[in-house]
Amino acid sequence: MTEHTLTVAGVTVDTRHWIGGERIASAETFTDVSPIDGSALGEISRGTATEAAAAVAAAKAAFPGWAATARAERARILHAIADGVDKRIEDLAIVETHDNAALLRSHRRGVMPRVAHNFRFFADWLLKLEHEEFETRGHTNRVSWDPAGPCVLITPWNAPLMLATWKIAPALAAGNTVILKPAEWTPLTASLLADIAAEAGLPAGVLNVVQGYGAEAGNALVSHPDVRRISFTGSVPTAKAIGAASAANLVPTSFELGGKSPLLVFADADLDLAVDLAVEQYDNAGQVCLAATRILVEESVADEFTKRFAQKAATLQQGDPRDEATDLGPNIHPRQLEKIDGFVQRALAAGARAVIGGAPHTDLGGLYYRPTLLTDVAQDSEVVQEEVFGPVLTLQTFATEQEAVALANDTRFGLAATLATGDHERAARVTAQLVAGTVWVNCFFVRDLQAPFGGSRQSGVGREGGTWSFDFYCDLKNTVTAPKGWQNHG
Ligand code: ADP
Repeated sequence: MTEHTLTVAGVTVDTRHWIGGERIASAETFTDVSPIDGSALGEISRGTATEAAAAVAAAKAAFPGWAATARAERARILHAIADGVDKRIEDLAIVETHDNAALLRSHRRGVMPRVAHNFRFFADWLLKLEHEEFETRGHTNRVSWDPAGPCVLITPWNAPLMLATWKIAPALAAGNTVILKPAEWTPLTASLLADIAAEAGLPAGVLNVVQGYGAEAGNALVSHPDVRRISFTGSVPTAKAIGAASAANLVPTSFELGGKSPLLVFADADLDLAVDLAVEQYDNAGQVCLAATRILVEESVADEFTKRFAQKAATLQQGDPRDEATDLGPNIHPRQLEKIDGFVQRALAAGARAVIGGAPHTDLGGLYYRPTLLTDVAQDSEVVQEEVFGPVLTLQTFATEQEAVALANDTRFGLAATLATGDHERAARVTAQLVAGTVWVNCFFVRDLQAPFGGSRQSGVGREGGTWSFDFYCDLKNTVTAPKGWQNHG
């Protein structure tokens, strides 16, 4: 460990910003704490408006060169970054687990390979990106995607590197330069990614990382007039603040926000599958924006569903996220744990019943919350309407398909919805009426990068994925060319 590095489980991480191809330290630092045991991982450079301006200037200076780099060369470098991620999966996994307490086994086997895939997918998509040309009175129309310029990407702590690279990869593929501001609770894997990108030959200034607080470094970045795109994943209040800052410069924004997504279980469903889907909502200790936290079950099967759910949930192992056997780790921060418990205690005081859980896991101590299922909750109650972002689900019943749809749509969110039903016609009918960016029928969390991804209502603005990502990160241009010999005919 030197003055500007920290070591996590044997992996050395630079604690400075990455700006214009150089490590830059700030005068001030903030402490990065592991949610596993509350230990301090190290002191991280705390960015201010000065570092934000330096990073935007570096991104602006690097932009013309990267934008003019041939598509095939950009794709080659993104593939090299993916190879670099693959080589360091173990390092990235262990560091991320110490930083945000999500399961090590998921980081190893699912998340970090997916990080590499993010780069490969958008590199390959770039190479086949084309609209069909079309004709207008003999003139040819040709649509092209011009890189837009420096992009500010602001990301949260629940899936730090996964969500960052899901934005970085298309932004870079499109020929833009990037300034990433990782969440202050989980800055470490972004720093490792900067090393990997540099080793892969990404030119200086194309990817920049500024660490720090949202209200400080984040706000300075999203307010900067030289920024051309802002993509943000996080909470609704922060999105509103970013939206206000970006509006001053008329910068296009993409927002992926929270949710209160429903899981609709119809009586004709395979009940074991429905129970599996419901219990899966505790993944990442409930800190998943897509989680179907409102379980809506048809009355006739509600008792049986609830019984089987409680049995299945009882088999979940709660404990240290580094342990292979663990299904549920701790939550991210004392402030979050307090918030989660606040929601639950207020719901219980208002007459809710905890089928399972209902309190922090005091035997484990620390930041562990017991997986909780609440029934007897009113549709307009706080716990049904607000995102808890912890291992807390509610269960309500419905009598008819119409009632199920009405309950499902009755929040200010619209991120996702999951259906369990054996009737495909019903699935099509219900899906058509749901307000949601993604609907899963008899499955959950299947995500292809070529699909549009985003939320309706307060769950987001815009869609990313496949060509939709390039539409967002580029200035689309239509070129109309007159037929050959037009001069002769006037
Ligand atoms: P949470 O998901 O913890 O509620 P936020 O939505 O506030 O978090 O945070 C997600 C990301 O947004 C973090 O990287 C955070 O630093 C950043 N952020 C918070 N406030 C602002 C702001 N005013 N401007 C820009 N970024 C911000």
